[in-house]
Amino acid sequence: MRTPNDLELVHLTKRYGDTVAVKDINHVFANGTYVCLLGPSGCGKSTTLRMIAGHESVSDGSILLDGQDISRLPPAQRGTAMMFQSYALFPHLSVRDNVAFSLKMKGIDKTARYKAADDMLALVDMGHLAERLPAQLSGGQQQRVALARALVTKPRVLLLDEPLSALDPFLRIRVRGELKRLQRELGISFIHVTHGQDEALALADEVVVMNNAVIEQAGTARDVFGAPRTEFVARFMGGHNVIDLNGGRFALRADDVKLADSGHAATVSVVEYQGDRVAVTSKLGETEVLALVPEAEFYANPKNPGDAVGLAWDEGRLHRLLA
Ligand code: ADP
Ligand code: MG
Repeated sequence: MRTPNDLELVHLTKRYGDTVAVKDINHVFANGTYVCLLGPSGCGKSTTLRMIAGHESVSDGSILLDGQDISRLPPAQRGTAMMFQSYALFPHLSVRDNVAFSLKMKGIDKTARYKAADDMLALVDMGHLAERLPAQLSGGQQQRVALARALVTKPRVLLLDEPLSALDPFLRIRVRGELKRLQRELGISFIHVTHGQDEALALADEVVVMNNAVIEQAGTARDVFGAPRTEFVARFMGGHNVIDLNGGRFALRADDVKLADSGHAATVSVVEYQGDRVAVTSKLGETEVLALVPEAEFYANPKNPGDAVGLAWDEGRLHRLLA
């Protein structure tokens, strides 16, 4: 449901010379939700985020928060805060002074700004390292400081541009759980840019898929994964086949394709073990069809590249794509 304090993009456009980086985007970000802006490199995600934050000017259109047009306000007056891809901490300032910096700029006295900084550092579990310099922290710890620094301004909307990209895969999964917890606790909106579909599915109340400067589809993670509107979304989300059948184009989830003795006659081309399941790619005429088969089921009747195989699926699971 739409509330007065939602963030709304209205005909938002950004041009760099002849390049249209963001093209006439319209979207309402519901208050208090975790939104992931998902799309391939160059599709306009960072530009969209930077326009919301006020770090990039708007070519056309507007950005509304609380129904007020914030698109020409300076960043600090918008009610938004941004955590950058590179954490950009001041190397010569302690953790506490980094977090308190924006409050110092606002003229807030030392006692009050240190109290606010310490509260935020406690929130991200970094209170014990407040005296350190950034160079004395691990990447994950620097990231928490950057997060505290963004949150200390009490933003209504926190903007995060690929916040997990510098972390190793193990840490990435742990930190994304912490981001989600933090968003729930604070009850503010997070808009998190990523090019990773698994990250978006894991985190987002709403996934907004961008492609070529426009929003291709927006919805809950299950809606977007379960019912991709276009071939682009089906392919980009992964785990889907795109098949031409009877003059129509359909998405078929790879976990809905069964290896059978009957069914569509195909030839196995690639077998990849993935731990809990096995990814089996087969050639069905000119079309490659991916089947994700539970591990035990696969090894009950294993296949190798070159083997003949039958592919079967429930017709009801075919999902028609927009032409
Ligand atoms: P993403 O974050 O999705 O990878 P960006 O928003 O950074 O994409 O970029 C979108 C498009 O705008 C790209 O074609 C990029 O080259 C172009 N672009 C981004 N920033 C600038 C800039 N400052 N000057 C010119 N072109 C830019
Ligand atoms: Mg980017």
